[in-house]
Amino acid sequence: MSYAYDDQNVFARILRGEIPCTKVLETEHSLAFRDIAPQAPEHVLVIPKGAYVTFDHFANEASDAEIADYTRAIGTVCEMLGIRPGMGGGGYRLISNSGREGVQDVPHLHVHVLAGKPLGRMLPGGKDTP
Ligand code: AMP
Repeated sequence: MSYAYDDQNVFARILRGEIPCTKVLETEHSLAFRDIAPQAPEHVLVIPKGAYVTFDHFANEASDAEIADYTRAIGTVCEMLGIRPGMGGGGYRLISNSGREGVQDVPHLHVHVLAGKPLGRMLPGGKDTP
């Protein structure tokens, strides 16, 4: 079985320059930009430039160079936003929704970097939810 990538998804169009984004960082293999509907004071999306649908797709098929670049891009975004715990920031949450049960809307791998306020428990209705 192979991964099917829809090259008409909105992030593919951003990568092709067909629609704009508010860019935070661009590296050889990655792009970070502000989410159009932020759910926290800081809400940045980090995507690989390659055609990967989900995190597992990327982890299984991306090159070592792409994986290193992407991982470091996420770290650099955390540094740029000033959100690193123990480094003057208050911390953050990374989320990568994948597939139907992960409730993924855009079928191009993205990690949400959320920060800037206490973010509450991980999942509504999950462990320790008041
Ligand atoms: P997900 O449900 O994890 O697939 O999240 C997709 C995210 O993409 C949502 O948080 C949207 O607000 C965001 N989004 C959709 N279109 C755009 C866009 N043109 N620019 C920036 N963010 C977008």
